[in-house]
Amino acid sequence: MLVVQKYGGTSMGDCERIANVANRVMEAKRAGQSVVVVVSAMSGQTDTLINYTKFFSKFPNEREVDMVLSSGERVTSALLAIALQAQGQKAISLSGRGAGIFTDDMHTKARIEYIDTSKIKQLLAQDYIIVISGFQGITQQGEVTTLGRGGSDLSAVAIAGALKADLCEIYTDVDGVYTTDPRIDKNAKKIHRISYDEMLELASMGAKVLLNRSVELAKKWNVPLVTRSSFTHDEGTLITTEENIMEKPIVSGIALDKNQARVSITNVYDRPGIAAEIFGTLADAHINVDMIVQTLGRDGKTDIDFTIPQTETDMTKKVLEKFLDSVESIDYDCDIAKVSIVGVGMKSHSGVASTAFKALAKENINIMMISTSEIKISMIIASKYAELAVRTLHSVYELDR
Ligand code: ADP
Ligand code: ASP
Ligand code: MG
Repeated sequence: MLVVQKYGGTSMGDCERIANVANRVMEAKRAGQSVVVVVSAMSGQTDTLINYTKFFSKFPNEREVDMVLSSGERVTSALLAIALQAQGQKAISLSGRGAGIFTDDMHTKARIEYIDTSKIKQLLAQDYIIVISGFQGITQQGEVTTLGRGGSDLSAVAIAGALKADLCEIYTDVDGVYTTDPRIDKNAKKIHRISYDEMLELASMGAKVLLNRSVELAKKWNVPLVTRSSFTHDEGTLITTEENIMEKPIVSGIALDKNQARVSITNVYDRPGIAAEIFGTLADAHINVDMIVQTLGRDGKTDIDFTIPQTETDMTKKVLEKFLDSVESIDYDCDIAKVSIVGVGMKSHSGVASTAFKALAKENINIMMISTSEIKISMIIASKYAELAVRTLHSVYELDR
């Protein structure tokens, strides 16, 4: 049996914790499994490295940023290999380059194009435990890239998919996927099984226990995915196909994203092509726009509101500057939060949205924007109400029962 185990930043947080990870990896090895490990940098390290690069410039060269950021995962992968070797185990660390992880050249948010698994397979055949630096890859031209924040989850699933591993285990600091972030609501309950689609929505809406792109890939390649704690031996959460799930609650979970910013453009000339111009400009700068609301035009003018990742605010300001002459104002609000309700059961039930609106109104929480999909309702509210909104919704849908 071949298993890919991924250990996140908290699990790799210091040398003691890395020694603990080495013990867990050895348990799997002793149980007869072939093990490929993917690791994150020590927790907080990537943030520290990003801050270093911003010391010199608001927009540091992204090739250089990737050179800096990729160092965090190089350190932890080599340390874990040393820890395993100290137990008498054959182990080797591989960087993204060494592991043959080829990406496009979109520095700081590269996409994996393919993985050349020949070296990994060769080492596995020689009974090595392979420890791969997550979050990084290499372009055809040999340039180092990183995959975007939380990208080690994606590295793990991609490697598991490419190796056709029997299981991909994501080890983190919670023992599974909960009905909401257990740090926000202590009444959150562990979900034992969740469908790829629901997990994808939860992750995309802010549940950072898994990176959304890793769930998307796991679904596409049918990778059996489990999230577990590296600190306990509790059973985790299995992310699987909808058919494998007996119970289908109407609402499965509540997600919170406090890393969004709202952009409000007022008095835009309401003519064909204006939205294409604005959003085309943002797309060219690779800025991910999420919710979009356009008000009904009046006197040939309209307002457009949308949300972006907070980290892209400076870049958005820069690229939208050219529209400043043709609109009344462009305002940015970072004090917002997106709260989302996710559940496959919503497809066949009505009234889910109105329950949410009523519950928030009762708490005097104003909703600024709303968007829905078949299995999700998202609302933008003031960030000071974020946690209250999560707990209110969690309880109104009885997720604490
Ligand atoms: P890692 O460093 O291991 O990748 P992350 O910090 O990225 O770990 O993700 C784990 C965190 O995700 C948990 O500590 C928890 O606070 C948060 N989280 C958010 N939503 C959920 C949820 N629905 N279930 C479990 N954890 C969640
Ligand atoms: N170290 C990277 C980050 O903090 C990647 C990861 O942890 O998944 O975003
Ligand atoms: Mg993570």
